[in-house]
Amino acid sequence: MPPLLDQHGRPLRNLRLSVTDRCNLRCQYCMPEEHYTWLPKGDVLSFEEVVRLVGVFASLGVDKVRVTGGEPLLRADLPVLVGMLARVPGIAELAMTSNGVLLREHAAALRAAGLQRITVSLDTLDAATFRLLARRDDLSRVLDGIAAAREAGFRDLKLDTVVIAGVNDGELPALLDYARGIGAELRCIEYMDVGGATHWAPERVVSRARILERLSAAFGTIRALPRTDSAPAERFVLGDGTVFGIIASVTQPFCATCDRARLTADGMWFRCLYAVTGTDLRALLRSGASDAQLAAVIQSAWQARRDRGAEERAALADRRPLLPQASLRQNPHLEMHTRGG
Ligand code: SAM
Ligand code: SF4
Ligand code: SF4
Repeated sequence: MPPLLDQHGRPLRNLRLSVTDRCNLRCQYCMPEEHYTWLPKGDVLSFEEVVRLVGVFASLGVDKVRVTGGEPLLRADLPVLVGMLARVPGIAELAMTSNGVLLREHAAALRAAGLQRITVSLDTLDAATFRLLARRDDLSRVLDGIAAAREAGFRDLKLDTVVIAGVNDGELPALLDYARGIGAELRCIEYMDVGGATHWAPERVVSRARILERLSAAFGTIRALPRTDSAPAERFVLGDGTVFGIIASVTQPFCATCDRARLTADGMWFRCLYAVTGTDLRALLRSGASDAQLAAVIQSAWQARRDRGAEERAALADRRPLLPQASLRQNPHLEMHTRGG
């Protein structure tokens, strides 16, 4: 079958699968508010529904699935879902992004169920900064979760750091040192103005260029590695061979090669992180649509896709948070923690 391509010739290969909108942290850049509108419990897809949709996506070319949230480890029996996903024909890569707080409890079961890779979000190594950033006192649990992932046999561990000016940018060398020490790959992410980032401001973004400056001041010459695929991270190497990545979604968007789509826990399918409308696949599923009907809807929506959200945002003269809190309250699908990042 020829690959399914959108209006810019981009295939559909990568599915971020949010399994819950709930989270046990409250990161400033993602969930800074006191109150949220949650997805109704009855709307959240069952494991069978999720696996059926993933099967349809796989039949259209998706071969990478990343389980995310909210915090995915808050979804009851996640290893059972992972086991079911691991058996979907065509899924070559099954990964998860987690904040790590509950990883000690679940790492071994996830590994046994067939999860291949884990990315842990780690923004700081300082307990006070963690408390400030995530509004919970859980740094030691996150670090222990990372250790548990390694003990459970996860290789290619990645650590994702959202860099915020004046908050954790001074810690970049320490974070890279830590990652190097445990054989993980650090990825520095520019602070994005996505839905939910209601405290975003341009001056809080630490650019790719600034991140490189800081790291080369600490570690000497940095060399860029050639890009090998459509992955968002640009990869670099230090003189001693340590590899790290930068995800420059704000200053150097990579929409041109974007093959990612997102499915929320209640089955809303978004074709861009910045998209304000999606396709309600739960409604279709629950109205009795066949796999062929679901595939036809997905196929035509992907073929019509023109999204280049981050590039459009970068072209704005006066850039502010994407959406006001009132819109997010009315439509939680617009939140980063619902879409899964
Ligand atoms: N709770 C899990 C976690 O934090 O790893 C998974 C979901 S979280 C929404 C996925 C990723 O989105 C995290 O790595 C997080 O750092 C990133 N993220 C959230 N808000 C962001 C923002 N405003 N800019 C850049 N990255 C953001
Ligand atoms: Fe932080 Fe992830 Fe929770 Fe957002 S979903 S508040 S990034 S832990
Ligand atoms: Fe893809 Fe949208 Fe992100 Fe651009 S902004 S890389 S099109 S998800």
